[in-house]
Amino acid sequence: MLYGWRVSPSVAVEGGGRFAVRRIFCVGRNYADHVAEMGGDQRDPPFFFTKPADALVSSGEAIPYPTATQNLHHEAELVVAIGLGGADITDAAPHVFGYAAGNDLTRRDLQAEAKALRRPWDMAKGFDNSAVIGAIRPGPLGDARLALTVDGEERQSSLLSMMIWSVPEVICHLSRLVRLEAGDLIYTGTPAGVGPLLRGQTCTVTVAGLSPATVTVLP
Ligand code: MN
Repeated sequence: MLYGWRVSPSVAVEGGGRFAVRRIFCVGRNYADHVAEMGGDQRDPPFFFTKPADALVSSGEAIPYPTATQNLHHEAELVVAIGLGGADITDAAPHVFGYAAGNDLTRRDLQAEAKALRRPWDMAKGFDNSAVIGAIRPGPLGDARLALTVDGEERQSSLLSMMIWSVPEVICHLSRLVRLEAGDLIYTGTPAGVGPLLRGQTCTVTVAGLSPATVTVLP
């Protein structure tokens, strides 16, 4: 007998198949220009938060405007899919399955309140439909441009090489906090230009060479 609601979140893989998702990790601040716009110190070590695996939204879906916020924000991000588990990783490359474009949707008003009151970020970051993702492309990824448009107008743009902590460094840091396993996704942080996403708007994240991650907020 199985009690409860059984969910098996997964992401499309380019060329066929599905990537079964275990956990979703996110890097808090990882581009100097975004750290500056949020008022932080870029010398801080990376920090992490999580989203539930069932918060995933496949590219092309439409979502309702989230409850309990007046300030839904977009965050364009590169997503790393882990294909081989490990703890205390020192050589990250063999642990990477592939890469995807993603959007770390954020209730910015609740995040600001949580920061001010020194409360957890869970309800600001880990709400329903908060992890938008495009298809995963297996294999390595060189430097590429990460960009985001809202209704076709560009709002965010950066080279991936502008990350403060590189993908291998992020994987190594995170694997010292938790054991990573195949199926884990890591949202690697967003560059400057975060801003509101309104009812009726369509938001697309692109990483050159990868499938886009598009989401539409219902009117
Ligand atoms: Mn983010």
